[in-house]
Amino acid sequence: MKWIFGFRGVKSPVRSFLATRNCIRTFSQSPRSHATYKRFENSQSYDFSRLVSSKPLLYTVLGLGAFYVYNQDEAPFTNRRRFLWVPYWMEKRVGDMSYRQILLQYKKQIVPHSDPIYAKVSGIVNRLLEAAFENSRDPKQIEHLKSLKWEIHVIQVNPKETPPNAFILPNGKIFIFSSILPICHDTNGIATVLSHELSHQLAHHSMEQLSKQPVYMALSTLLYMATGVSGFNDLLIAGLLTMPASREMESEADRIGCELMARSCFDIYQIPRFWERMHAFEEQQSGQARTSMLNEFFSTHPNTNKRIHDIQSWMPQLESISESSNCHQYGQFNQLRSFF
Ligand SMILES: [Zn+2]
Repeated sequence: MKWIFGFRGVKSPVRSFLATRNCIRTFSQSPRSHATYKRFENSQSYDFSRLVSSKPLLYTVLGLGAFYVYNQDEAPFTNRRRFLWVPYWMEKRVGDMSYRQILLQYKKQIVPHSDPIYAKVSGIVNRLLEAAFENSRDPKQIEHLKSLKWEIHVIQVNPKETPPNAFILPNGKIFIFSSILPICHDTNGIATVLSHELSHQLAHHSMEQLSKQPVYMALSTLLYMATGVSGFNDLLIAGLLTMPASREMESEADRIGCELMARSCFDIYQIPRFWERMHAFEEQQSGQARTSMLNEFFSTHPNTNKRIHDIQSWMPQLESISESSNCHQYGQFNQLRSFF
């Protein structure tokens, strides 16, 4: 959930991928792109026939095509095909870079571990991680997730200045902004937010975002070579590829997060309640701040009413998961391991 959920943020966990995201824009507006433009000026049109008949280019294209096909993967729940090639170590390294940047910005606002909210969030995260590890079918992923040094950071912010936000970086660093806590309302609300964020990691969404960056850069460059226009191409790629993919990832994270809530024995009926409060907050923001601080969220996230509708439609399955998780058995989560 990024805007808010920077946390809502596929994009937020990956806000730090800003460097890579900006590459698209930078490439088309930088001195390199200017040099390309001059070539257009001199010849009026690019000689594509020479380029296409080049053998090295043909081999490169064939190699890249084979690489693309070999690294196809199936996303959970939506079963959409996706390109996934970034290894765990690379994803973690990007997470580490993002972490350093975020710490620089918010270091003085992190609430101490002695604060009751820290203990509450820790308990929730432990339950979610325990359930995630127990139910995963991917031993390699679990081994990787267990190797991470998980840390929680509750950031104290002025809610009038900083929108509700929470996110988990691919290196296991969890951020939750105090401005989201009133919307969370209670333990189940915080669990809804964090289960969604954790689900982005379980579904390899950060990895997927990173995997696609070179493709978007190549597309942007090709479109620029063909049209000589840069801004419109970026818009086209964002509208046709980036944003729809982001909305699909949000829906996947919603679905996985709901199941995680059920398996962790949180109150699944509170999930739609949380989203209703979020919707009320959005309504409250509309007209004023929406255009600025929430604009990004609205373009990359599904409509909140649709989310609530989807979650309601999953309830029968979530109920049966809850029942099969023996949630009524006393003490299921009394003997929690600590992941911190
Ligand atoms: Zn999200």
